[in-house]
Amino acid sequence: MSWSFKLLTVSGTVLRVHFTFFLLMIWIAAVNWNQGGPVAALNGVILVVLVFACVVLHEFGHVFAARRYGIKTPDITLLPIGGLARLERMPERPLHELIVAAAGPAVNVVIAALLIILLGTRFQPSDISLIETIGGSLAGQLLAVNIMLVVFNLIPAFPMDGGRMFRAVLSTRLDRPTATRVAARTGQFFAVVFGIVGLMGNPFLLLIAVFLFFAAEAETNFETRRSIARRYRARDAMITHFDAVAPDTTADDIAKALLLTTQQEFPVVTGTEKLLGFVTRRRLIETIQAEKGDATAMDFMESDFASVSEDSPFERAFTEISKSRMRLVAITAADGRFIGYINSENVAELMMLDHARSP
Ligand SMILES: [Zn+2]
Repeated sequence: MSWSFKLLTVSGTVLRVHFTFFLLMIWIAAVNWNQGGPVAALNGVILVVLVFACVVLHEFGHVFAARRYGIKTPDITLLPIGGLARLERMPERPLHELIVAAAGPAVNVVIAALLIILLGTRFQPSDISLIETIGGSLAGQLLAVNIMLVVFNLIPAFPMDGGRMFRAVLSTRLDRPTATRVAARTGQFFAVVFGIVGLMGNPFLLLIAVFLFFAAEAETNFETRRSIARRYRARDAMITHFDAVAPDTTADDIAKALLLTTQQEFPVVTGTEKLLGFVTRRRLIETIQAEKGDATAMDFMESDFASVSEDSPFERAFTEISKSRMRLVAITAADGRFIGYINSENVAELMMLDHARSP
C-alpha cells in the first residue's frame, strides 16, 4: 500500500504503518489536550498505541493461522480504521478458511480474558462503557476495546472476519462463487447500515462502510473470474501473435514498435527462444524520459516474471497474473520454450467470451 512505511518485521511479515495513522495520533493528542491538558494528551496517545497493539496482535492471529496452511503473508498495514493483513490467498477448504478468519478475533478474546484476570476484583462489567470517557482505568478501557473488536469483527459483513466465517459455513452447502455472492451481498447490506450510522456522526464507521462495500464487490468479481478460469487451460487465452525484441534492441527502436503494434509489453527473447524479461510501456516511457533512448532492452526490462506451461489450468495463470506487478504471465511449451504470454486484458476477454456463450 502506498503512503505507508515499514515499522518492523516479525518472522517474515512486515508491519507497515500508513501515514494517515499518524494524523489520527495527532488528532487524538490535540482533542485530549484541549479537554485535559498535556497529561490527558499523553494518556490518549498511550491508549491509541495500546489499542493498535491489540489490532496488530489480532492481525498476527490471521497471519499465523494462514501460515499453517502454507499461505504466504507478506505484510500487515495499520490504517486509522484498523489493520489489514495481506494474505497471498484465502484457504479454499471451508474449515481452513473458518480457522484463519476466526484466529483474529480469538486473539482479542485471549487478551480480554487476560485483562479480566489482571483487573481481578476491580473488574466491573460496567467498565466496558468507559471507552467513551477520558479517564477510567487503562486496563478497563483496553478490555472494552477488545470486547468491541470481537463483537464488531464477528458481524457477518463480508469481507470482515465474521463475513469470511459466514462464507466458509455457506461453502459447505453451496459452491464457492455462490457462497461468496451471498456473503458479499450480506456484507454490502451491513455496509449500508454502517454507512447510515456513520453519517449520524461516526466518520470512522463511514470509512469502514465505504471500504467494505467495494471490497465485497471486488471479492465477488474475483471469485466469479476464478471459477470461470477453472474451466480453461493456459493455452486457451495466450497471446501468440506478438513482436518480441532482442536483448540489444534500443529503447528508441522499441518506442517505434510501441506505436506500430497494439502491444503494451514486449518480451525480450534471445536467439535460442529463451525469455529474459519484458519491456513494459511504463518502463519504456521512464527510460525515454530519462533521455536514455540508446539503452538496450537488457538494461531496463523487468525480469521478475512468472511462467506456467501451456497445459496448466488457466486458474494457475490467472493466480500468477493477479500476483504479478506487470499483470502478465509467460507461457512455455512442454520443453520449456517460451511460446506466448497472457495479460490481464486477455483474462477480461476470455471472461467476456465465456459470458457471451453461457449467459
Ligand atoms: Zn480480522
